[in-house]
Amino acid sequence: MKVPNNGKNFWWRVCRNILATKENLFKRRCAKDNLCPICDCEVETIDHMLFLCPWANMVWFGCNIKPFGNLQGNASAVKWTDDMVKVLGTNKATEFMGRVAVIAWHIWKGRNDFVFKRGAVNPQRTVDSIRHMEREVSTTHVIPTVQMDNPLNQEETSTWRAPDVGRVKANCDVAFPMPGKKGNAVAML
Ligand SMILES: [Zn+2]
Repeated sequence: MKVPNNGKNFWWRVCRNILATKENLFKRRCAKDNLCPICDCEVETIDHMLFLCPWANMVWFGCNIKPFGNLQGNASAVKWTDDMVKVLGTNKATEFMGRVAVIAWHIWKGRNDFVFKRGAVNPQRTVDSIRHMEREVSTTHVIPTVQMDNPLNQEETSTWRAPDVGRVKANCDVAFPMPGKKGNAVAML
């Protein structure tokens, strides 16, 4: 699965523990307490926010991933994902980490909506958003461009030439998503 840049960037911040969790804000004296704003009964560490808070746990459950399932004792998000990457092969690890990053990013967004927009957290809605994004990513295929006047697709130097007087030249580019989706066309005159 191709991971959107937002997801990659987000996971990079998770691994460095630089997200503005209540724990981190409290350490910097930017918050009155370090409690999770959603359940209000545990310190809001990255692990709690993304994996252990009951609503986040329901999102992982809805996505068929059991965080920390193979770890004993002092589990952490970073250790868990590191171990999973070692256990899985390169291809599966990339796929797995892609899913983890996207799910965690949606949980972070849901948490922020709760904090800043005072919207209720909704595990089912978050799972639906994740599935929607996964479908979008998996059904977007890039079809290689084949020059119609060069069916063997041999490399050639392309040079723009002005049209003859009295003629109009149109350059077109079209992207085709999977069947049932709308396509996009761009024409430059
Ligand atoms: Zn919580």
